Amino acid sequence: MTAGPSWTAELATEFRSRFGNDAAPKIALAPGRVNLIGEHTDYNEGWVLPMAVDRWVGVAFAPREDRRIRAHSVVFDETREIGLDDLAPPGGSDWLSFVAGAAWALDSAGHRVSGLDLVVDGDVPLGSGLSSSSALTMASMLALCEASKIEWAPVEMALLGHRAERDYIGVEGGLMDQFTAVMGREGHALLLDCRTLETDFVPFPPEAAIVVMDTGAPRTLSGSAFNDRSRSCREAVEELRDADPEIAALRDVEPGFLELERGRLDEITYRRVSHVVDEMTRPIAMALALAEADLVAAGRLMKASHASLRDLYEVSSPELNLFVELAERHPSCFGARLTGAGFGGCAIALVSAEAAKTFADEVHAAYRAEVDLPSSVFVCRPVSGARIVDPE
Ligand code: ADP
Ligand code: MG
Repeated sequence: MTAGPSWTAELATEFRSRFGNDAAPKIALAPGRVNLIGEHTDYNEGWVLPMAVDRWVGVAFAPREDRRIRAHSVVFDETREIGLDDLAPPGGSDWLSFVAGAAWALDSAGHRVSGLDLVVDGDVPLGSGLSSSSALTMASMLALCEASKIEWAPVEMALLGHRAERDYIGVEGGLMDQFTAVMGREGHALLLDCRTLETDFVPFPPEAAIVVMDTGAPRTLSGSAFNDRSRSCREAVEELRDADPEIAALRDVEPGFLELERGRLDEITYRRVSHVVDEMTRPIAMALALAEADLVAAGRLMKASHASLRDLYEVSSPELNLFVELAERHPSCFGARLTGAGFGGCAIALVSAEAAKTFADEVHAAYRAEVDLPSSVFVCRPVSGARIVDPE
């Protein structure tokens, strides 16, 4: 077993003091992620290019004899209990529901889950678009599997994690986040085909770095606006299918075909679909650019993606746009864009590795001069997915 981040030692101590348990708990870790490109393409059965990053949710745990989960959250300073026989969707959307959702999804797939004491903490920023929720879901699922002696089959577990967030918590969305939290690979991004789940590991050039720029702006309205966008996509598929019955998802729509048939769509739907259809082509292009360490080409794709998300899909925000502009004005930046669903949360910048720290400090200072929000900017690196570690 490998060691985890330094705070896992405190997590283990917290576990022992909370549950009066002298035994050393195990710790399940799952990482957050950035999506390098391919935004709002996952639920349209397209490609995405995420990368698991060195920010984690950790679950310290030990099995119980009964069928209860007793859980403490360090972040929320709250201890709660649930019974494994009382789980049924819809669950809530509070922190414990992600743990409960993971147990429910395992149970609904026929796995016999046993009870657990657990303490959860993490350093993935919450609600910022780095997918702390999927890190929590997958760390919980790994803890449940380890304690219940359920074999950890990564792809199956990512699918169950997706079901937990979609059907138990009730957030529509693709599989990318849970998949990345499980399948991430050190030093690599993942080119994921969301239709077939075929995955290519793309080496991330060591001379480059990704800097996360968290606007500090809460993602208000994101749920309803998100569901509204995904509905537009589904409705567009219905309309376009009249012209070509082979179309099962926006994945199947070529840019030329869209132009030919645009009269079938209202103006807003057309703009939304244009974004998705263009963005579909970018993950493969960016994977090629990264594989050749062509950072200029990769940066150009990121700029195009951001403009499309801002002007066509309309999911950016003034703070995200400001961070992207400040980043792109900096001489070490190749390109920048919002990452995650949008409406606040984080942007990312592709920069040269040696200048990454200076870039982060300078861009953050420039942002803070204009925006008074709890923002943060940090350099991240690609890591491998969920694992069990020894507390440090
Ligand atoms: P995102 O996934 O983009 O970070 P979400 O709104 O989907 O944002 O998920 C955030 C929620 O996930 C939090 O409100 C909380 O319920 C849960 N969560 C994430 N990380 C933790 C953590 N370390 N401890 C407790 N709950 C967490
Ligand atoms: Mg989430």
